[in-house]
Amino acid sequence: MTDRQPGFDTLAIHAGTAPDPATGARQVPIYQTTAYVFRDADHAAKLFNLQEVGYIYSRLTNPTVSALGARVAALEGGAGAVCCSSGHAAQIMALFPLMGPGLNIVASTRLYGGTIQQFTNTIRKFGWSAKFVDTEDLAAVEAAIDDNTRAIFCESIANPGGYITDIQALANIANLKGVPLIVDNTTASPYLCRPIEFGATLVVHSATKYLTGNGTVTGGIVVDSGKFDWSASGKFPSLSEPEPAYHGLAFHPALGSMAFTFHSIAIGLRDLGMTMNPQGAHYTLMGIETLALRMQKHVKNAVQVAEWLEQDPRVEFVTYAGLKSSPYYHRAQMICPEGAGALFTFALKGGYDACVKLIDNVKLFSHVANLGDTRSLIIHSASTTHRQLTPEQQVKAGAAPNVVRVSIGIEDPADIIADLHQALTAANA
Ligand SMILES: *Cc1c(COP(=O)(O)O)cnc(C)c1O
Repeated sequence: MTDRQPGFDTLAIHAGTAPDPATGARQVPIYQTTAYVFRDADHAAKLFNLQEVGYIYSRLTNPTVSALGARVAALEGGAGAVCCSSGHAAQIMALFPLMGPGLNIVASTRLYGGTIQQFTNTIRKFGWSAKFVDTEDLAAVEAAIDDNTRAIFCESIANPGGYITDIQALANIANLKGVPLIVDNTTASPYLCRPIEFGATLVVHSATKYLTGNGTVTGGIVVDSGKFDWSASGKFPSLSEPEPAYHGLAFHPALGSMAFTFHSIAIGLRDLGMTMNPQGAHYTLMGIETLALRMQKHVKNAVQVAEWLEQDPRVEFVTYAGLKSSPYYHRAQMICPEGAGALFTFALKGGYDACVKLIDNVKLFSHVANLGDTRSLIIHSASTTHRQLTPEQQVKAGAAPNVVRVSIGIEDPADIIADLHQALTAANA
């Protein structure tokens, strides 16, 4: 187009896509195909050798899925991205090139309940482990990193309480210790926060949430900043040493800033098979076209709802970092200046019983285990998403029994507030 660097709203609509070369189709076609015809034997060999970039088989790459990866990489300011079958798959795919038996990650205590579960129990089957640390205690984060640590993991806006992580401070520690910082940016979306600008190495997303935006898709994405030197310390042999699983190719430095992305496709998707399907990628591409507009409305509504809840006598406290009363208000202004998201919790004076009654009486809100939908959603984390955790883990994660989590949608704010008002009245009757 021109010499200008396109802005976020332009990238959200154009990045990663061009009119279809075969048909001129303006919208990204859904390439519903498993395989791609090679021009000849030499072409096939070059593709398998990574000497030429192209499509082989849709477990590895597919044009619709690649378009989505390129778009999200552009929005996050990354070098490359790999799409996966879910947010949880993205987390495994982010760790896979870094980890091995006996190695660990240092993870924030404030994470999505499913992630705490994945990191506490499931990754042990691979011989990996996680040390959970309160990321407000930077000295504790630093002290937790040992010779076997291969990453720090946090969420930008942490589920469920809307807690804002000091990404820059964690990036400084990661940098000092020579390990990558992985940031789950699901609840912020790249419209509100771009962790790579604060020093993150990898960004993971559940595309299931705001990126798609309407509760239709399960998907995940790993974005690589392209800035980490995988060869510097000898700690990342999957990336820096000749890879026996890929006829001896050392991905880094051979593939430069794309080393992590190519490894994730050529080894990760090839052998783990956590592939995104082209139809899902298409829906997410459609969703991203309106990401900026939706996030502005989500944030505007969330502020209004949180302010109303905060002054209601039946409510004990509201955790939204977009409230001036929040201890994280100033950090939110730094990390996500366009708004602190639309996910937060509030506690009821009536405790557990009142929370359950509130949820049973909402009409506009949907009682679901999801977030980042156009619809307003509500859930009692302690009895659902954070149910498998110990009471102590629940409190640390911000999912105590007396709090409910809301994901504020883009309906009329007056209707959202009216629904909460009538449900609170019923809960306290
Ligand atoms: C939902 C979610 C995940 C998991 O994503 P799925 O697409 O459900 O696998 C991970 N992190 C956060 C912050 C989430 O909200």
